[in-house]
Amino acid sequence: MSDKLARAEAENTAQSIVEECGFTAFPICPFEIAKRHDIHVEAKQSGKPGVSGFLLRVGNVFGIQYAQHITNDGFIRFTVAHELGHYFLPGHPEKLFPRGDGVHESKSGFISGDPVERQADYFASALLMPVHQFREAVNGAGSGFSAIEKLARLCKTSITATAIRYSYFTDEAVAVIVSSGERIDYCFMSDRIRDLRGITWIKKGDLLPKGTVTAMFNADQSNVEQARQDEGTSTLSDWFDGGPDVEINEDVVGLGSYGKTLTILFTDEPLEDDDEDSDDD
Ligand SMILES: [Zn+2]
Repeated sequence: MSDKLARAEAENTAQSIVEECGFTAFPICPFEIAKRHDIHVEAKQSGKPGVSGFLLRVGNVFGIQYAQHITNDGFIRFTVAHELGHYFLPGHPEKLFPRGDGVHESKSGFISGDPVERQADYFASALLMPVHQFREAVNGAGSGFSAIEKLARLCKTSITATAIRYSYFTDEAVAVIVSSGERIDYCFMSDRIRDLRGITWIKKGDLLPKGTVTAMFNADQSNVEQARQDEGTSTLSDWFDGGPDVEINEDVVGLGSYGKTLTILFTDEPLEDDDEDSDDD
């Protein structure tokens, strides 16, 4: 299944669960959904780096555990929603438990390249921020980083998950970048940036552009650990080869014990450079 189809299936499955449970307003509570399906949820000590949650199966009884070291409430909810994805998504229980009983270890939060993990992440985003309700909330949230913070409070989701979801639905030019040290872990772009012709998209493992607020922020790891924030401006061409020389806002926040940094680039300036078909008026 292509990534696009996997995402569509996750969106549809999540939306039907939200409707079935009768949620009409934010926040969508994954604990409540688990309870209604007789899935016990608890915290568990997890010594394995990157492992955020577990789905357990004994016969037809399921349980969810999330790693005790996670202190971010939004990320706990995301992790529980990710495990619910493995329960609800077609084919997941069969794939994860080929022998019936067992324990599946999850690395949630868009860090895994495994398509099964990725689809569960799509499901978690769609469950906590369902399309119809979220699109409406985005329209009323304003712009840039403050809009993302507002939506995160409304949905009780982490800033990172909210920013990624926001990039799908906003009409603005937004890029959401997660980095560690000198390198970029991943980048999500809104359509207004994706659709720019002639730009090179950011790839996993790319170096952070020198001189940007993010590069300077990451030079001191205590900024990340202490969850400090910084802001400034850079240009789209600093980040995207072949991009227009348009100034963009650069908001940077350290993600604490997660050890990574979130950068939100956004602008409401017109992006069309000197494209041959752009109007001169
Ligand atoms: Zn998983």
